[in-house]
Amino acid sequence: MSGPVSSLAQVPLSDVLPSSCVDAEPELRRLAGDLESHPAAAGRIRWHWYPEHKTPPGTSRAGVCLIVCDAAITVFDQDHDSLELTLTVGWCPELTVSAAVEVACWCSSDHNIHEVRGSSRPATNGAALVNGFAAGAAMLTRVLDSGQFDPRRWRVEAGLPDAAPKAQ
Ligand SMILES: [Zn+2]
Repeated sequence: MSGPVSSLAQVPLSDVLPSSCVDAEPELRRLAGDLESHPAAAGRIRWHWYPEHKTPPGTSRAGVCLIVCDAAITVFDQDHDSLELTLTVGWCPELTVSAAVEVACWCSSDHNIHEVRGSSRPATNGAALVNGFAAGAAMLTRVLDSGQFDPRRWRVEAGLPDAAPKAQ
């Protein structure tokens, strides 16, 4: 794993993307730049990349993705609670772009985080990768625009147990 860095501009995409997708690089950098420059994302975005996952996995367990590169935008982080937006390119086992809204888990058995909104699109070639990345970035931009960063509200809407009321 490499990173974190604050911009996809600092990620050597040719080290992580399969050769069938390298033509997507300029457009991915442009889309990422738009997301990074959102006022609600500024200073809150971290990119990681995984050169060890450049080649597709031979086999993959269902539901397990090998991440190629991902961004996490932490828009809420206090009192052991969090709301994070993620944009991920990974082998699932086909190359896939996923975008998600994730909140801290307050279930009786701790799952660490819960995805409360998410979408995934196959990235079978460079054009599909760009389309999926654009759709994921657009979903996250809508959340950034909304300013709805209170994880309690997202958990309630998703029917998840909520955090205990603050003791004060
Ligand atoms: Zn949980």
